[in-house]
Amino acid sequence: METVFAKIIRRELPATIVYEDEHVLAFRDIAPQAPVHILIVPKKPIATLNDASEEDCWLLGHLLLVAKRLAQQEQVADDGYRLVINTNSGAGQTVFHLHCHLLGGRPLQWPPG
Ligand code: AMP
Repeated sequence: METVFAKIIRRELPATIVYEDEHVLAFRDIAPQAPVHILIVPKKPIATLNDASEEDCWLLGHLLLVAKRLAQQEQVADDGYRLVINTNSGAGQTVFHLHCHLLGGRPLQWPPG
């Protein structure tokens, strides 16, 4: 199913893009929950983590390494940051195109809500 992230990847919707390569796009969340809130999105339209398979192994690893680099770039790597992949509506997923939230720039509580 078509999602808002597919439209952002195709540049049919605006976004504040902070990183792009052949495989992933990263942009600032429109409703930030922390001073740094970036979404790292594979260009391949995988709906949820449940839909990822062995063939996505490299892509998922790449996603995490991009997140790590962005945390360094945003200067939250040393203080600490959180990566979140909400999976399905019970966990709060609202956009069904796999994405990883990078949150940082403030103290983050545990456990999350
Ligand atoms: P999730 O709830 O894990 O599916 O996360 C979806 C995220 O996408 C939410 O944090 C939204 O604020 C964010 N979002 C929705 N539409 C846009 C958009 N057009 N540009 C940037 N972020 C968006």
